[in-house]
Amino acid sequence: MVEHIKRRSFLAGLAAAGVGPQLGGSGRAVAVGSGGNGKLGDLKITKAEILQLTGKNKRRALYLKLHTNEDAVGLYGPIDNEAAMFVDRFFKQGLIGQDPLAIEAYWDKMFRASRHSRGSHYIMALSAVDNALWDLRGRFFGLPVYRLLGGSRKKVRAYASCLGFSQEPSALQAKARQLKRQGYRHQKWFLRDRGPSHGPEGVEADAKVVRLLREAVGDDVDLMFDAFWEWDLQYALAWTRRVEQYRPRWIEEPFQTANLDAFIELSRETSIPVATGEHFYGRWDVHKFLKADAIMVVQADPEWCGGVSELVKMCTLASVHGANVIPHGHSIHAALHVVASQPVEICPLVEYLIQKMDTYYHFEKHQPRPVDGMLELPEGPGFGIELDESKIADVRAVSWQQS
Ligand SMILES: [Mg+2]
Repeated sequence: MVEHIKRRSFLAGLAAAGVGPQLGGSGRAVAVGSGGNGKLGDLKITKAEILQLTGKNKRRALYLKLHTNEDAVGLYGPIDNEAAMFVDRFFKQGLIGQDPLAIEAYWDKMFRASRHSRGSHYIMALSAVDNALWDLRGRFFGLPVYRLLGGSRKKVRAYASCLGFSQEPSALQAKARQLKRQGYRHQKWFLRDRGPSHGPEGVEADAKVVRLLREAVGDDVDLMFDAFWEWDLQYALAWTRRVEQYRPRWIEEPFQTANLDAFIELSRETSIPVATGEHFYGRWDVHKFLKADAIMVVQADPEWCGGVSELVKMCTLASVHGANVIPHGHSIHAALHVVASQPVEICPLVEYLIQKMDTYYHFEKHQPRPVDGMLELPEGPGFGIELDESKIADVRAVSWQQS
């Protein structure tokens, strides 16, 4: 089922709700309790919809929009296709009539609503709902999400995530130097071309990448490495022994998340901090890894792990264990606001996937872009998402409901 929306009326609706471009950069703060009889408890969700935006260049993106019986709306995206489908099938109807400010109990209700809630697409969809509720809450109170969470950091340091760049030696070194000149003090490179089947030669080649980068950037840039869960313990041990002299800040996801024992063993054997978490679903996964001393860097993704609400709890858990939380950067909005809400000792960085982020926020007026290696927090309410009318050729509500 696809419900077409007249573009003019959709954009007018966004404007009325403080989302549209006519309102300028900061949007409009909806007076607390405005409308109705002015009581906080009277705010209710009246509609949830997945909006598919299509650009003049045929580019598409999905956003979750929540409507209420007052002016406040919640908007979050782009969201993954799988998450959108599950929101539509499992969460959309249940949201009607809910108090959007009562997030904690509602998160728990959603989590208990399915025996399969502990992972995968279900909790990705739950994350989208949670993030849209946080945006709604921010717009209702007229505050950015990071301020609602108790934060005050106006800027957060971003690390350059270098997926997709050439690793031919001269190109690799030139790119690393360029990123350093652009102000990135932290760079993450990906070791995904080789693995256990390549034996000692593979280890040597993956160690050479580290050496070339260290030579290129000198000692004042942190270097991180992501193995894309392709290694086994022997390969990881050989590589870490070979590269400890180059002081990597972390080795990320050397194994699949299911292989807790390998993470424990590697952490015991190397001085290089071990990182993982983009496939953590819920605080329980984080607790399991931290209490086993398996990792020092938690990389949960607020669009996959349970949303802003859950990532904040993970930060508390990490603080107990002296670990960092540096969220996975498949997107920016939710991660940026949570990081900005936390002490820099717990959340020092956000990931900025350079190639992906270049176009990921195509439909938004304020696309997050680091300057001198820093990302500025938006001043607008909620996550500061403002759709750009000039980029949108078509808007429609999409559904995966079975007829
Ligand atoms: Mg990764």
